Amino acid sequence: MGMEPTLVIIKPDGLKKSLTGDILSRLSETKLKIIAAKIMKVPKELAEKHYQHLSKEPFFEELIRYITGKIHGENRVMAMVYYGEGAISKIREIAGATNPEEANPVSIRGAYGRILTSGIFENVIHASSSQDEAEREIKLWFEPDEIVMDLYPTEEKVFEKVIKRVWKE
Ligand code: ADP
Ligand code: MG
Repeated sequence: MGMEPTLVIIKPDGLKKSLTGDILSRLSETKLKIIAAKIMKVPKELAEKHYQHLSKEPFFEELIRYITGKIHGENRVMAMVYYGEGAISKIREIAGATNPEEANPVSIRGAYGRILTSGIFENVIHASSSQDEAEREIKLWFEPDEIVMDLYPTEEKVFEKVIKRVWKE
């Protein structure tokens, strides 16, 4: 435990159902601090890395379709980093069990989740389940400068010939 960060993702079903506000309110009950947040599209490569521990599961392909928004026709997710005392277990508690039918009915997944006919647990949010997982996931979803705290060691790299999209003058 101690002071720790955790990654939270509001999945495409959460955005599609306009649950963002409700979910943020529930999460704010923890009194944890949001130290990073963004709305983004999820590239397939990022989805596959995020769920690499499940790559052997029969539902893996469908899970990738889910998190990349293919099932809901909603390609946005909201990714956030929460920080504070016991952040990982506090958020997991409010999120509820992985299977929405087994989740505590007052948890986020218990209230808003469901099981799709494909068998996928559509459970509205992701939350890191250990410190190692949080570190791996936060580094996957965020760059150091997108987070308002220094969580992990960084280094400076010089890039040459970087092509970057900017606003047209
Ligand atoms: P959690 O999200 O609670 O940490 P996992 O990391 O095990 O759970 O799984 C990642 C996601 O994959 C789940 O949130 C859920 O959407 C889906 N999932 C996990 N296990 C199953 C399953 N047995 N059947 C269908 N979908 C599952
Ligand atoms: Mg997990």
